[in-house]
Amino acid sequence: MEKQRKEQKIFHRYIRTVEVCGKCGGEGKILVWPEGDLWKQDEPTEETCPLCEGSGMLRKTVTITTDLTPFKRE
Ligand SMILES: [Zn+2]
Repeated sequence: MEKQRKEQKIFHRYIRTVEVCGKCGGEGKILVWPEGDLWKQDEPTEETCPLCEGSGMLRKTVTITTDLTPFKRE
């Protein structure tokens, strides 16, 4: 029996973009209120945004995986 030629069935596609950080709004800094201060009455402290690490921008990589499998009717 002849060996069947293998077709590539999984494809990866990468989309890379740079966008403004949604957590800090591009500022690179966020205001943090003391824990338990639900009404935000105390003075907040300014901290470096942990998501963009102060750059205000994020590099986003979207990976799209396409997996093709045979659809066989029983
Ligand atoms: Zn940020």
